[in-house]
Amino acid sequence: MKHHWQNYVDGHWIDGGAGRLDVVNPGTDQHLATQAVADAADVDRAVQAAKRVHLSGALTDLRPVERGRMVQAMGRYLIEHIDEVAPLLSMEQGKPLWEAKMEISGAARYFEYYGNQAETVEGRSIPLGAKYYDFTTYEPFGVSGQIIPWNYPVEMTARSLSAGLATGNACVIKTPELTPLSNYIFAHAAEAVGLPAGAVNILCGYGHEAGAALSGHPDVRQIVFTGSVQTGIAISTAAAQNVVPCVLELGGKSAAVVHADADLAAFEDNVRWGIYFNAGQVCSAMSRIIVHESRHDELIERISGVARSLSVGPGLDRTEFGANMGPMVSNAQRDRAARMVAEAETQGAKLVTGGRAMNIPGAFLEPTVLTDVTQDMTIAQEEVFGPVVSVLRFGSADEAISIANGTPYGLVAGTFTGNIDQAMRDAQSLRAGQVFVNEWYAGGVETPFGGYGLSGYGREKGREALWNYIQTKNVAISIGGGSGRS
Ligand code: NAD
Repeated sequence: MKHHWQNYVDGHWIDGGAGRLDVVNPGTDQHLATQAVADAADVDRAVQAAKRVHLSGALTDLRPVERGRMVQAMGRYLIEHIDEVAPLLSMEQGKPLWEAKMEISGAARYFEYYGNQAETVEGRSIPLGAKYYDFTTYEPFGVSGQIIPWNYPVEMTARSLSAGLATGNACVIKTPELTPLSNYIFAHAAEAVGLPAGAVNILCGYGHEAGAALSGHPDVRQIVFTGSVQTGIAISTAAAQNVVPCVLELGGKSAAVVHADADLAAFEDNVRWGIYFNAGQVCSAMSRIIVHESRHDELIERISGVARSLSVGPGLDRTEFGANMGPMVSNAQRDRAARMVAEAETQGAKLVTGGRAMNIPGAFLEPTVLTDVTQDMTIAQEEVFGPVVSVLRFGSADEAISIANGTPYGLVAGTFTGNIDQAMRDAQSLRAGQVFVNEWYAGGVETPFGGYGLSGYGREKGREALWNYIQTKNVAISIGGGSGRS
């Protein structure tokens, strides 16, 4: 394990103008390594390198299938090196080793999918009568700036980098301060597949310095951000100053509606994945369950059983898929979540299980279930971003929808019922970018993902995401004198 990690700019590994930061293993509280911290000048070097690559035509002149093959090869490179990267990801982020491997496989899948999509981006021909020939083409923006969160540092980089490269953009990645190390693999992958130096640049830096410099840089022509609402507002404000589009994915307070006829035995598995996967640090986590009052007690018994069954401890020790959970990403995030649980109790919520920081080294929070939560409580409105599920009750289906839609967010939502009419009515009424019926996280890289309301705008995943990285050019050709004006 290296003691010090550098940034990757224009094909070179360099230290940062803003010194070094310490990366800590949240599963042990032990120091892991130091990471170079980029300043605004480093960011500028990376953006200039990316711009040079763009202007050179090294990416845009390629036949899309060739670019696509390189993108797909990056995914294969990730899989070939999974045993090298997964332990590092587990140590810096905390997640169990099997979850780290799952994240890297998920990252590879993005390269497979968007590499494959590269040659499907085709324009159209628009009829303007006999005097004209008209067609559209799609061109990349040029330099894509991508600001990455700490909860899935490898997968989130893969999500935007794969689509950005497939469409011919050169990319500058700003990695998160808490989990910067595992992103090195993208630099190695880019070199291994033959991308030119400067096509992929990877820097860690503080949000207010490197992040702000990237999002406000006039040569960055497109921005992708996943993280908090507050930072999303700062980034989109900076982007607006340069009249640059951005994609914002800002988290949520997503609800599962559990109807009276739902299969609660099957629902247990959805809770295990929906709120305890990655210790609940998932933007689309099932952080609220809205259950029909007739099934409340049974549901509580079942989901508290799931919470209590989880073995919680350091990620590296948890090698196999199963009933286990790692720490949160940092003690600060853990303490924030524990505070929110305590505040919910003072507001009248009942703690069924968990809710406390564990008395061992590391950022561990007990898997938590709260019930008697009502709409007006902070815990029902604000993202905890931890292994904490809030249970609310409903009487009528209309009431369930009104509670589910009663936050400023709208990332995902779910409905659990044996009645297809009910499921379809809910799918129509739930205000969210993705609705799951009878399986939380149903879908995949192929299905568009993004938010309504404060959860952000633009879509990642699926073919929809491609349109974030390209701009339309229309070419109208006058043939034979151009007397066709209307
Ligand atoms: P954050 O939004 O502050 O940070 C995310 C990324 O943005 C990091 O890379 C950070 O360096 C960068 N950043 C911060 N300030 C910036 C600025 N002014 N300009 C440009 N970039 C900037 O999130 P956080 O502080 O790491 O976590 C706080 C909360 O955000 C969490 O509790 C959670 O609710 C939420 N969050 C959501 C997601 C998600 O997937 N939606 C991911 C991480 C965090």
